[in-house]
Amino acid sequence: MPTTKRTSTVPLLDLRSQYADLRAEIRAAIDGVLESQQFVLGPHNEALERELAAYCDAKFAVGLANGTDALTIALAASGIGPGDDVIVPAFTFVATATAVVRLGARPVFADIETATFNLDPAEIERRVTSKTRAVIPVHLYGLPAEMEAINSIAARHGLIVVEDNAQAIGARYKSSRTGSFGTAAGISFYPTKNLGAFGDGGMLITNSEKLAAHARRLRDHGQSRRYLCSEPGWNSRLDEIQAAVLRVKLKRLDDWTAARRAHAKRYDELLADLAGIAVPAAPAHSEHVYHLYTLRILKGLERRNLVQRRLLELGVSSGVYYPVPLHLQPVFAGMGHTPGSFPRAEQASAQVLSLPMFPELTEGQITHVVESLATALKETA
Ligand SMILES: *Cc1c(COP(=O)(O)O)cnc(C)c1O
Repeated sequence: MPTTKRTSTVPLLDLRSQYADLRAEIRAAIDGVLESQQFVLGPHNEALERELAAYCDAKFAVGLANGTDALTIALAASGIGPGDDVIVPAFTFVATATAVVRLGARPVFADIETATFNLDPAEIERRVTSKTRAVIPVHLYGLPAEMEAINSIAARHGLIVVEDNAQAIGARYKSSRTGSFGTAAGISFYPTKNLGAFGDGGMLITNSEKLAAHARRLRDHGQSRRYLCSEPGWNSRLDEIQAAVLRVKLKRLDDWTAARRAHAKRYDELLADLAGIAVPAAPAHSEHVYHLYTLRILKGLERRNLVQRRLLELGVSSGVYYPVPLHLQPVFAGMGHTPGSFPRAEQASAQVLSLPMFPELTEGQITHVVESLATALKETA
């Protein structure tokens, strides 16, 4: 098949260039683990737990197998189970809600704010009932949810707050980092996340010593001590190779976040004059870490998809996170929601488009993305 060779394709994410910068250090760290032959919950995990808790302005961190387990175990350790309702935004990655389902509890969807894509605090008030036990705000794309309003509503109704911090490690809301506001928070180290492992990994963050201790039991088969099981748990332990890799990367995270923020600023400047789009909100009291730089392509689904296709032809990869809101996912078909149930979530699903964003992005790539977007918008106007 003859193909036209495109030398200028800008990927959505480029993990290889990051690895090239760290190769020697990471290989040495992995080698150390291989020599020790200690693969699960060893010294790297313990050190990473300390480093991550401090990094998130929190007291405790518990290394886990992935970010979804971090949410599930945070809820389980908070006593959530069958018969309990948990409010989650209708627009997020599906794991935010399936983490609830896994416990036999019920996710109750709530709509988002148009400007930030995050849970609308007023919607918590609207959806809360006597069965509601918890709420999971998601810091979507790296932008903190409105934690002050959410926490004050949650306190008024006696709700547990579990932050889904999978996409926002390092983000600040007012003076503190995300992950430090809720009863607990979950972080994901999935390779594409801002702090990505070489496989799966996750971390639970909390200021509660009791909750942290409970989570440590739950991740290790519910054992209160070796071979003494006091409740059914999970096998959800962070492995040492991942922890060792993550410790090398954590030292670079602030530099990478600064680079993401600089790229976002550049996109904002260059995109300011383009009609037919809305650039991401950046509230002054928050520090967005731009896991994704997500625009709205105004005027609906057809146009967003056309723009995305044209961008690819012009050598620019882009992504749609997420094309189907949770209330319209097949897994939740039994809940009786229909199109129109959560209009802002549905509109976001139809309009969002994420542009290439990673620390190593170059000025030339950014310019190419913006010029290609301008062309695609003109052609689809
Ligand atoms: C990635 C992600 C998760 C799940 O994390 P895993 O490590 O893949 O289990 C949960 N919520 C959100 C918002 C995510 O982006």
